[in-house]
Amino acid sequence: MSIAENITAIRAKINAAAIAAGRDPKEILLCAATKMNDSDNVRAAIAAGVDCCGENRVQELTKKLSENAYEGAPVHFIGHLQTNKVRQVVGKVDLIQSVDSLRLLQAIQKEAAKQEIMQDILLEINIGNEESKTGFTVKEIYDLLPQISDFPNICVQGLMAIPPICQNPGENDKFFQEMYNLSVDITAKKYDNIRVRFLSMGMSDDFQDAIACGSTMIRVGTAIFGARDYTQSH
Ligand SMILES: *Cc1c(COP(=O)(O)O)cnc(C)c1O
Repeated sequence: MSIAENITAIRAKINAAAIAAGRDPKEILLCAATKMNDSDNVRAAIAAGVDCCGENRVQELTKKLSENAYEGAPVHFIGHLQTNKVRQVVGKVDLIQSVDSLRLLQAIQKEAAKQEIMQDILLEINIGNEESKTGFTVKEIYDLLPQISDFPNICVQGLMAIPPICQNPGENDKFFQEMYNLSVDITAKKYDNIRVRFLSMGMSDDFQDAIACGSTMIRVGTAIFGARDYTQSH
């Protein structure tokens, strides 16, 4: 199957999942998770109509930006971002989805102020409270919202989550549901600079469940590009 055929198949599944949930399929954006794929593959995905691309590693982002790989689609950063690398990402991407600590927020604020821009971000929630994962816990995010709202050069556009790896279909529905509830609750609080335009959750194996629970952006890699070859060192 080609990248274009895979994307057509995913769109059909998005439509079916949305309609089954009584939602408009157009509410759901397809973000191509492009890690370990070269610029030609990225271009093929954009030509086949993905809504945006999500990159995980700063080095890959920089390389593909220099090759104009993302022309025609917004580019997002979706991987763990070290504070010493914010300069290579702030102002270079439309959305940083994976903002997972107060320290990182502070570093992004500083760089965005220096560049005199507003940087759009999502707050990454560690919804499964997993020690192996970064991200804010639900309690932390409630405590920090007033402070986050005060960053003058950061605009929060929503929430992102990577729930635990699940063994059985439907296992993560409770986490997706919790994320949805959190998004509704945060929207209702009406903080300055904090809105929930995007609820980014769902990947190749579970995006239909995520859509059923209210996801508005799914991040899909394997189902678009095929399995990644981790024997190549990156
Ligand atoms: C790789 C990745 C994805 C996509 O995962 P697949 O299972 O290949 O669809 C989504 N989100 C993030 C943050 C990723 O790193």
